[in-house]
Amino acid sequence: MAHGLTPDRRAAGIREVTPEFLRELGARGVIVDLDNTLALPDDVHPTPDGAAWLAAMREAGIPVVIVSNNSRERVEPFCRPFGVDFVPKSGKPFGRGIDRAIDKLGVPREQAVLVGDQLFTDVLAASCHHVPCILTEPVVMETGLFFRLKRALERAVDRKRRK
Ligand SMILES: [Mg+2]
Repeated sequence: MAHGLTPDRRAAGIREVTPEFLRELGARGVIVDLDNTLALPDDVHPTPDGAAWLAAMREAGIPVVIVSNNSRERVEPFCRPFGVDFVPKSGKPFGRGIDRAIDKLGVPREQAVLVGDQLFTDVLAASCHHVPCILTEPVVMETGLFFRLKRALERAVDRKRRK
């Protein structure tokens, strides 16, 4: 179980989160972050890996719910072509969004897994809501000052945790 800021597992990207990998973890459903996990920030289309992953989950019969802190206006147009359910403005890490996503997913939370790219939103959200977690590398590193500071802080905390 994710603990504080320590994920259960790490992946270089969403493509590594295969049905086999999920089965190994005992996960039967996935709550997944959108920006920088399945798509470039604010891109209405997934990355090629993101699109392939959504297709693989559907083929394997593994339910997926997208959980984003972004607005409905951003999240819904992304999800609609794939018929994937979603929770916008989820308030990760502390909001009710994770619980709503678990309800939509339809599997017990210990058999769900949260996949995302950010320590302070995704991993902490999983810890706070007792959901196992896989931390992925972000699709791209954001360039704004706020994000650069946040990433630097994440790296510092993460280095400490890994020791
Ligand atoms: Mg993200």
